[in-house]
Amino acid sequence: MNILVITPFRKGKLIESVVSNIMNYEVVNTAPLQLCTYLKSQGHDVEYISMQNIFRSYKDEDYERLKLIIHSCKFDVLVFHTDYYMNNTNTATIFSIKLISDIVKKMDKNKRIIYCGKLTEMLEDELLQLLPNIDIAIRGESELVINSFIEEKNINFDNYKKFNGCLLNIDKKIVNRRGANYIDDYNKLPAIDFSFLDKTIYLIEKYIMKVTKLPISIRTSYGCPYACNFCKNTKDWNKYRVKSSLIIRKEIENLKRSCNGKLELVFLSDELFTLNKKHVIEVCKVLEDNEIILNGLFSHLNNLNEEMIKYISRISRSILIGLESCNNTAIKYADKNININNIFKLAKLVKENKMAIGLEWIIGLPGITIEDELRDLNAMYIFIANNIVDFIEPYILVPHPNTEFCKNNLKYNIEITNCYEEMLEEGGIPQISYNELNRKQIYVLYLISNIVISEAYKAQGHIKDKMIQGDMNIKEFKKIMELFNE
Ligand code: SF4
Repeated sequence: MNILVITPFRKGKLIESVVSNIMNYEVVNTAPLQLCTYLKSQGHDVEYISMQNIFRSYKDEDYERLKLIIHSCKFDVLVFHTDYYMNNTNTATIFSIKLISDIVKKMDKNKRIIYCGKLTEMLEDELLQLLPNIDIAIRGESELVINSFIEEKNINFDNYKKFNGCLLNIDKKIVNRRGANYIDDYNKLPAIDFSFLDKTIYLIEKYIMKVTKLPISIRTSYGCPYACNFCKNTKDWNKYRVKSSLIIRKEIENLKRSCNGKLELVFLSDELFTLNKKHVIEVCKVLEDNEIILNGLFSHLNNLNEEMIKYISRISRSILIGLESCNNTAIKYADKNININNIFKLAKLVKENKMAIGLEWIIGLPGITIEDELRDLNAMYIFIANNIVDFIEPYILVPHPNTEFCKNNLKYNIEITNCYEEMLEEGGIPQISYNELNRKQIYVLYLISNIVISEAYKAQGHIKDKMIQGDMNIKEFKKIMELFNE
């Protein structure tokens, strides 16, 4: 069977509305390549396009080009893959899945379209209501079941009961088959073949720019033991599994050999790379043997210690931690399960080991007032100006479907507007508001946080004594916030 696998694209980020031809590369996510490799091992002819890398700041004028690319591919089955773990590669792509699936069904209404990713579990029937051209949406990790969906010529009301863990679109009726698919051992899947990226590189070079090194992010573990209220939204989220160092070694060899040396491993997508010490040591050894230095990886305040930091310092330039806020009430509301004060000791250890430490920080967490947000902004300034951390990445809180904040929004007094294409942490229009903060104010706070961080960088080096946190002018700040009362 000829299969085309596509990573759909999101709307451009805020900065891409300002500059739509930014000349740097989008980091490639390898989850769809895992699926391509598996499908090839089952005897299919597979082609892959990472549309996110080609249309990262999509405008209406790009439609003809999108159509041209789809029409140039030869396929019987189209598979969308949006990743099983990352929220920000899922929700906001619904609009491009719609665009692309419309093009495909207009080409030939008999081409089968299958969806793989988190959206099935996040949205259930609503997914097929929004995307009526999708024939099958698989719930959970699809590798071990997708073949049965591809090989069944006609899925209808006589045979649908043999399929579970999916949504089926049969004669325009949505059939919801319960259950979720789950890969208990990723090591049973073939090592990822990175040569599937040849076509994406060809298209980037044809339409955008010459590719020297396309940045790649691989995954060495799956799942996370925590359940933060803004993040966890799938049933098997807490089942943490790792890939063996043998497979990772093979994948890195494949990566180095593929695409004429135009790929560069720069990041680990693992939600929590540092949960298992043995795994950390083994992966670090593989990367060290291959002389790879990553730009960064994620860790957690509760799972990072001096020994691990020493190992990681051999293979990464930075460690990124989700601190989210300095406000204990907001942290508790979010069920973040951290002691904020631990960041100081940890950041010092990371810096002593010659790595940069960065924080993710959420703007608009429930349970927070304007005064609390001002305290958080003040803390951001102090963290950077005093060189406690090296960078901070502020994000707007996004109420991704099926998260605790989304499912039980009334319990947290949250109002949600479900414009999925705007659900972008990096500057999408906020889809959440509550008594203390409306959407405009959350957006302005996000913009202000970027000003605060850039001002704090300017202050670095001019501060003789360490600045003390918490000296603010709430009265003046409230005046600014009042400008954005709805
Ligand atoms: S620790 Fe991080 S990855 Fe895990 S649930 Fe919380 S935010 Fe998500």
